Amino acid sequence: MGRRNEPIRVTRSSMPPFAEYAEMIRELWESHWLTNMGDFHQKLEKELKEYLQTRNLSLFVNGHLALEMAIQAFDLTGEVITTPFTFASTTHAIVRNGLTPVFCDIRADDYTLDFEKLESLITERTSAIIPVHVYGNLCNVEEIEAIAKRHQLKVIYDGAHAFGECLDQKGVASFGDACMFSFHATKVFNTIEGGAVAYQDPELACKINGLKNFGILDEETVAMVGGNGKMNEFQAAMGLCNLKHVQQEIEKRKQIYNRYKNRLSGISGIRLCPENPRVTKNYAYMPVVFEGYKKSRDQIFRELEEQGIYPRKYFYPCVNAYQCYRDRFRPEDTPVAKRISQEVLTLPMYADLPLDVVDEICDCILHRTKSKLGQA
Ligand SMILES: *Cc1c(COP(=O)(O)O)cnc(C)c1O
Repeated sequence: MGRRNEPIRVTRSSMPPFAEYAEMIRELWESHWLTNMGDFHQKLEKELKEYLQTRNLSLFVNGHLALEMAIQAFDLTGEVITTPFTFASTTHAIVRNGLTPVFCDIRADDYTLDFEKLESLITERTSAIIPVHVYGNLCNVEEIEAIAKRHQLKVIYDGAHAFGECLDQKGVASFGDACMFSFHATKVFNTIEGGAVAYQDPELACKINGLKNFGILDEETVAMVGGNGKMNEFQAAMGLCNLKHVQQEIEKRKQIYNRYKNRLSGISGIRLCPENPRVTKNYAYMPVVFEGYKKSRDQIFRELEEQGIYPRKYFYPCVNAYQCYRDRFRPEDTPVAKRISQEVLTLPMYADLPLDVVDEICDCILHRTKSKLGQA
């Protein structure tokens, strides 16, 4: 089969109708107020507090700085426990705060931090846990927070993949001391680039909002060594537009997910994520693990690529195998994460992905390619 005209990538940014966005940003030309917590910023913050069911939320220019500055706001010291099965941002945010990451392995079923291995990694230097709701699979928040409480540790979730998800109808933002969200172009909800931190303690507002604006509290008071993490008005306008459509976006993703599930579940050697009946999902990603399947992950990756379909090896390599961390950590210390990173493929998943392309992807995974059949 020849290459298609348009490549199929792992994701495609969701965008509002052009006229909706154009109409909204017209106001910016009139106001000349482009950033620094303008009207759109305030409006989006308010709407997201409702959508995410949280009282305290601060917008950021991107998810990474939201996490970096949330960590800074808690004045952590020493060691922070996290997982290596995530995007570079999680660990970099810890290291860039002068803290030492300690890698806990992941669970073989949902790839979140393995709470059964957590306690053995806690030392007198540990100050926090940063678990990741990876692929939107929610961590076992009860187990993790019970352990954190026993050892007086802060819990900051990397919720970059968990936008809008609920556990027993309770918004994911309500767990832990804080939760970071990413609104990057590739995420379920986007503000082009963007992010937010939701947090429990209202007293942190001054600090978190101060840190993203150079530590400036008022015209004459600079109280903290902050940075620049402010979301601008064009981003906030995009968020206001996209938020109107996000529920529909998630509904469409669900159709895609169900099609993949119908085709790929129950096949020996192919593992889909388990479904947790307590969780309202956002269908952010479609990770599939090939363990002892007739074709390897890399072979399937190549065969799809030949058809102009580009899945991603999220998350390969593990963070503890990165070139920049190689001399400090060993991937062998987190064997489950190492194995899953070698077996996982994240398949294309976005609202407007045609179902016949999903079928084509599944055909390619399940059968030998046409050219090989021809030779048989
Ligand atoms: C996307 C992502 C981030 C970073 O968010 P940005 O908005 O891209 O800065 C952090 N953690 C995880 C797990 C992510 O997927």
